[in-house]
Amino acid sequence: MKLHNSGAEVYVPDGLPVDKALARTTHMGISAHQDDLEIMAYHGILECFGGQDKGFAGVTVTNGAGSPRDGLYGKYTDDEMQVVRRKEQKKAAYVGEYSVHVFLDYSSGAVKDAKNPKVVDDLKQILAASKPQVIYTHNLADKHDTHVATTLRVIRALRGLPADARPQHLYGCEVWRNLDWLNDDDKVIFNVEAHENLAMSLVGVFDSQVAGGKRYDLATMGRRRANATYLASHGVDESTALIFGTDLTPLINDPQLNAEQYVQRLIHHFAEEVSDRLAKLS
Ligand SMILES: [Zn+2]
Repeated sequence: MKLHNSGAEVYVPDGLPVDKALARTTHMGISAHQDDLEIMAYHGILECFGGQDKGFAGVTVTNGAGSPRDGLYGKYTDDEMQVVRRKEQKKAAYVGEYSVHVFLDYSSGAVKDAKNPKVVDDLKQILAASKPQVIYTHNLADKHDTHVATTLRVIRALRGLPADARPQHLYGCEVWRNLDWLNDDDKVIFNVEAHENLAMSLVGVFDSQVAGGKRYDLATMGRRRANATYLASHGVDESTALIFGTDLTPLINDPQLNAEQYVQRLIHHFAEEVSDRLAKLS
């Protein structure tokens, strides 16, 4: 595997050789930034945690240079922030017992440039070496440009692989916009109530973000709890923490389907449900 950026790095928390660490991957999370995986791909981390036969691989596409900062980190330069954020992501990989974590080290601009082939090429190499069965990435209705660009690059990379090297499932999950608005039939529902302490630790290790001015730890746990309670108005809560996702698998298996058509279909389902209820009750 020859990644494009000199600052790219493959980190294996338990020290296994890289090829072996990649080969034990069953679940993979691909995110724009350090800390996104711990927010959106916790289901995959949990599935693999403590197990012998499953392995979670994390991939962070950007270098984290542009993150907001305050307090202890207020005077940090972009270069210093990149060092801090990589260290924090490694802490999360260790705590979460990830099989491997790959840092691609791109600027946000490079990821958002649809004509730049390097991100897609790096992703294809990682995917070919690890062959995950399940991949979690950002959802296409997210409101952060770099998140959506990352998902588009993931889809392009997967479409470029032979069919037998593609995952069985590709999910788009919640960071910058939750998916509560999806019709229930369009939701993929991940029960993540186990190991709440681990969930809190994984978001909590990103001190430069949390103490740096954004309470992602509280907000993420609150969102999961709200998802669980507000999923159904009748009946008691069946879980204390849910993550919602969209099933993006059709986009890798059907090259004719484009991302905008896919997400507009979901928005249309939502619009129809709202209209139908108002028509019924008016
Ligand atoms: Zn992010």
